[in-house]
Amino acid sequence: MSLPQRLPERARRLRALPSVERLAQTLDAETSLAGFTAAERRAAARQAIAQLRTELQNQALERSAADLFAQSLAAARAWLAARGGMRPVINATGVILHTNLGRAPLARAALEALTMIAGGYCNLEYDLATGRRDRRDRHGEAHWQMLLGCEAALVVNNCAAAVWLVLDTFGRGQTALISRGELVEIGGGFRIPDIMAKSGVTLCEVGTTNRTRLADYAAALETLSDARLIVRVHQSNFRLLGFTERPSLAALAVLARQRGLLLFDDIGSGQLTDLSAYGVLDEPSPARSLADGADLVTFSADKLLGGPQAGVIAGRRDLIEQLRRNPLLRALRADKLTYAALEATLKLYCTRAPEAIPTVAMIRQTPDAIRRRARRLRLQIQRRCPAETLAVHLSPGHSVIGGGCAPQVQLPTTLVRLTSTTVAADELATRLRQRSPAIVTRIENGCVVLDPRTILPAQERALLQGIVESLA
Ligand SMILES: *Cc1c(COP(=O)(O)O)cnc(C)c1O
Repeated sequence: MSLPQRLPERARRLRALPSVERLAQTLDAETSLAGFTAAERRAAARQAIAQLRTELQNQALERSAADLFAQSLAAARAWLAARGGMRPVINATGVILHTNLGRAPLARAALEALTMIAGGYCNLEYDLATGRRDRRDRHGEAHWQMLLGCEAALVVNNCAAAVWLVLDTFGRGQTALISRGELVEIGGGFRIPDIMAKSGVTLCEVGTTNRTRLADYAAALETLSDARLIVRVHQSNFRLLGFTERPSLAALAVLARQRGLLLFDDIGSGQLTDLSAYGVLDEPSPARSLADGADLVTFSADKLLGGPQAGVIAGRRDLIEQLRRNPLLRALRADKLTYAALEATLKLYCTRAPEAIPTVAMIRQTPDAIRRRARRLRLQIQRRCPAETLAVHLSPGHSVIGGGCAPQVQLPTTLVRLTSTTVAADELATRLRQRSPAIVTRIENGCVVLDPRTILPAQERALLQGIVESLA
């Protein structure tokens, strides 16, 4: 009969567990958790203690009360982090358009437009001149015409939706030519061949993965009677190097015109200001694509453009009007907040003030300016953390653009490396992530690494506080 002997032993082990009350009070006192409600912190405490109790009941491990308290605190923090819903993040990764972190942060002007439009009513589908009903998809069109030199433009939910709408409208039941080198997967499982199949488009693959010539398109057309579209897709998140070739867009445009086909160019990211001085050399610009003869061009608003999530279709007016008549548009349409933020962002381009757009500003930040920020950050950290517990080093490194844009571009930066003698790098990174605002870092060679390029200046204080508290 072992049971009667084991019972008091188990009860003794369980008595070492902290009370929910005490754990909740500790959570309440943590400034990093002030973003949660008292009820959420109490629920986290209850959850953490219940979890530990189960563990203690199942194993015969002896653990000190201090150990159990530390463990329950960590479990409660993790529970809150997992359940906290949307939270602001300080992006210290150096990846500018981090898709997992929401891509482009918006410009102040876009935030002001959001506040103004979101809190009340607006003329989303209402013509204030006549007092009649209007279409939402006219918003921003004048800006697009000015910026791209296009006849017309249409905004939808994202670029994937833009591609789908174009293919569904012009390709359904017909054949589209596309180079084998452009049958790409964009990310998040968005594969060009799949979306073409879904849109009822028959795919005619042209050329080879690395080399496709104009003659390949012409030869394919000889055998096709129902070809309607030439589709060109920017390779976005990868580059072919070495023995490669593809015809220029202008040459394709001539062929398309001769054969009565539409030329559709999905460029993915919309570069509206020249970033070539920063190494962004082979990201197409929508204005250039249209000038080269594309009938329609599609791109994202939250990549290089630096606006809210949206997809833009620009080009010939007659084609855009046909897109407007597709019932699918109703399911892909953008909401009033998107229009508000997008229009405010476009105005910054129209007034030649793109440096007010965080994405553009981050790409343009000079190595000297970043080095100065890194030095200041090091100094501030060193002032608040004793040198015996934390070493802070600067080292040269690279930031990247991300979001599938310009994958080969490495922007020189200065990294801030933290090495703690009391907290392991993994543990420090976890603590930083579980705060609100959360701080997301990289770990390299056992150090927590921060890249100042993607840390918004307004977040520097919260970052500093986060580091200091996470080491305590
Ligand atoms: C990113 C990208 C897309 C998808 O854009 P989302 O706005 O993320 O939907 C489509 N095509 C290309 C070429 C891209 O680079």
